[in-house]
Amino acid sequence: MESIEISPIAAYALLAMMLYGIGEMLWLTLISRQVSFRHDFWQPLRNAIAVTPLSSLIPLFGTGFMALAGHSLAPISLEHSWYMWIIGLLIYEFWYWVQHFLAHKVRLLWCLHSPHHAPDNISMVVGYNHHLLEVPYMAFFLGFMPAVCGVPVEIIIAINVIDAFWGSLLHISPRVVSKRYGPLEHFLQTPSYHRVHHAKNPMYMDTNYNSMTLFWDWAMGTLQPLRDEEPVQYGITRDVDVESWRDVQLGEMALLWRDIQQAPGLGNKLRYMLMPPGWSHTGNHNMASTQKQALTAQ
Ligand SMILES: [Zn+2]
Ligand SMILES: [Zn+2]
Repeated sequence: MESIEISPIAAYALLAMMLYGIGEMLWLTLISRQVSFRHDFWQPLRNAIAVTPLSSLIPLFGTGFMALAGHSLAPISLEHSWYMWIIGLLIYEFWYWVQHFLAHKVRLLWCLHSPHHAPDNISMVVGYNHHLLEVPYMAFFLGFMPAVCGVPVEIIIAINVIDAFWGSLLHISPRVVSKRYGPLEHFLQTPSYHRVHHAKNPMYMDTNYNSMTLFWDWAMGTLQPLRDEEPVQYGITRDVDVESWRDVQLGEMALLWRDIQQAPGLGNKLRYMLMPPGWSHTGNHNMASTQKQALTAQ
C-alpha cells in the first residue's frame, strides 16, 4: 500500500523534530540558561519519552489503517486530481477542528488532552507531551472520517505527515523564534497562533484549534490572533503541579471522578463527563465561555 510506505518518512521527519526539540531544550537550559531544566523541560520531556512510541509512530500507522477502514465504508470515492488535494485538505482540517474542539469542550476528552496544555511554558518538547489514550481517537478523526468522506487514503496520509511535522514546529520556543511570521499569518497557523491556543487567558482560551490553515477557525469563529497588549500566560486554569507526571497525566481524571461521585442523579453524572470543563450541576459554572462572558461584561 502506498499509504503505508509514506509512514517511515513521517517517522524520520518526527525523529528530526524530536532531535531538534532536545537540542532546543539543551540550548535553553544548559547553554543560554534561560529556563529551568526540571520545571520547563523535564516534565514534558518525560511525558514525551513515555508517549512518543505511541504518539509518533503508531498513530501514523493507525491513521493509515483507520483511513483504509474508512475508505472501505465510504459511500463515495473521489477521483485523484490536483484540486483533490485542496478538497482533501479542507475535509481533513474540518475533522481536525472537530476533534480538537471536542477535546476542549467535552470534559472526558479534556482529561486526555489537558496534559498537552498543562506546562506553563512552551517549547518543542511540549509538542510531544500528550496523554497515552489521546492517540487512538485522533486516528479515528484524522484517518477514518476523511476517508469516509471520500478523500483518497494516500492524500490523507500525506496531509497527516505534513500536519505532524508542522504541528510540531508550532511549539518552537518564543525564546528561539519570537517573531510574527509576516504574510504567513494571513492563512497559516503559525507558532504565534498556537501560543495563543496554549494560553489560559480567558480571551485566548478555546481558540485556534487547527494546526495548519486558518480556514476552519475563521469559519467557526474560533480564530484568535496574538494581541501585543495581552501576553500569553501558558497552562491550564486549575492549579496543576507541572513537575508531577501523575498530576499532569491523571489530575483531571481524578477531579472528574470526584465530581461524578458527588453529583446527584445519573443525568448529572453523565453531564459532568460530556459538558465542558468547569460545568457544575449547581449552576455555578466556571467554563471558558463563562469566563469570556465575564470578561466581556467588564
Ligand atoms: Zn488543545
Ligand atoms: Zn500544542
